[in-house]
Amino acid sequence: MPYDKHTYLIWFLSFSIILTSFFLLQIGKSQAINISFFNNNNYFQFNSTNAYNIIESQLNFGFRIPGTESSKNCGDYFIEHMNAISPTLPIFQHNFSVNTINCRNFLITINPNNPRIIILGAHYDSRAISEKDPTVNKRNEPCPGANDGASGVATLLELSRIFYEKRESLNCSVWILLFDAEDQGNGALSGWDWCEGSKKFVENINNYYNPETQSIEAMILLDMVGGTNLEFINELNSNMLLLGELFEIGRSLGYLDAFPSNPVSSAITDDHLPFKELEIPVADLIINFWSPSSPWPYHHTTSDNITYISQESLEITGKTIEKFIYNHYLNSPEYENDSGNYPWKDINGNLSLDFIYYIIFFVLIVGIGISLIIIKKKNKFQKTKNKIKLK
Ligand SMILES: [Zn+2]
Repeated sequence: MPYDKHTYLIWFLSFSIILTSFFLLQIGKSQAINISFFNNNNYFQFNSTNAYNIIESQLNFGFRIPGTESSKNCGDYFIEHMNAISPTLPIFQHNFSVNTINCRNFLITINPNNPRIIILGAHYDSRAISEKDPTVNKRNEPCPGANDGASGVATLLELSRIFYEKRESLNCSVWILLFDAEDQGNGALSGWDWCEGSKKFVENINNYYNPETQSIEAMILLDMVGGTNLEFINELNSNMLLLGELFEIGRSLGYLDAFPSNPVSSAITDDHLPFKELEIPVADLIINFWSPSSPWPYHHTTSDNITYISQESLEITGKTIEKFIYNHYLNSPEYENDSGNYPWKDINGNLSLDFIYYIIFFVLIVGIGISLIIIKKKNKFQKTKNKIKLK
């Protein structure tokens, strides 16, 4: 007996539902949050007082606008800081220019020859204007960039001290990447775009490793990670498996406010995008900076200074990253590694949603097509039958 159109329709609907559920489940899986508190704190050495002091040191140079004396002095301070950790710790300068202004990115490589590279990045330039300041005549003044810039760098410099000390137990190469020229887009410096430093770095990335023997496993960006009332968002340009894992780690450490179970979602243009273009799994740890009702409403204002920096927030970010690195790369008999969602290859935020829409669209079109053919055939069959009857 041939199937009638209803049977086909039921098959088609069931297939669509199964397919849709499967993809929705994949998304849900990456966002699933496990609350299991981690008690073994012996491994965490992140010192938030050190990080706080590194923010102050950067602010003391003045505004770190690309090409200025303050920016140059701040860059030289990074070199001195790393030399103080160890004169043998490699720190590279990546020189580039934007509209004839000379800029510098800095790259610190711990265990430079290890085949597995993990990149931790932040920008160190501060914005040349404070266009969101509530006081209109302050909007042409430079932004101090205590949170928007200095906080991410401070967290990374403190982490580089720890990872360098532990380097022999770490089965990875940690790259600490400090970007210049991230924050001058949209009219801060005339003719500049956002993220100039990271775009330029990616053009020359092959100068810093051997793609034949090494691979970059992930890139994590820290942006505005040291402000008061820290609350990270679900950044949609990020790889959901990687960002979801960072949320899970943060929550396992008890940081339930900083890594909320229902985070605000938004896609942000930031220094992780050029690395995403290279198909590296990326995650941006960033806050809601655009809404006036944000828990930290000082973005691109003259109030982005040390007053609204929180040592606790620095600690939350630092320890979450520390645990992430140990989970994947620490060789120690007492430490229980956790492979999390490694290798984070499955889903990239926007791509996954687009992909689901394409699949649903495709299935619908094919389904409608098949249904039409069946109905047409049935009608033809019926007509022939009627003709035969008439005869
Ligand atoms: Zn900014």
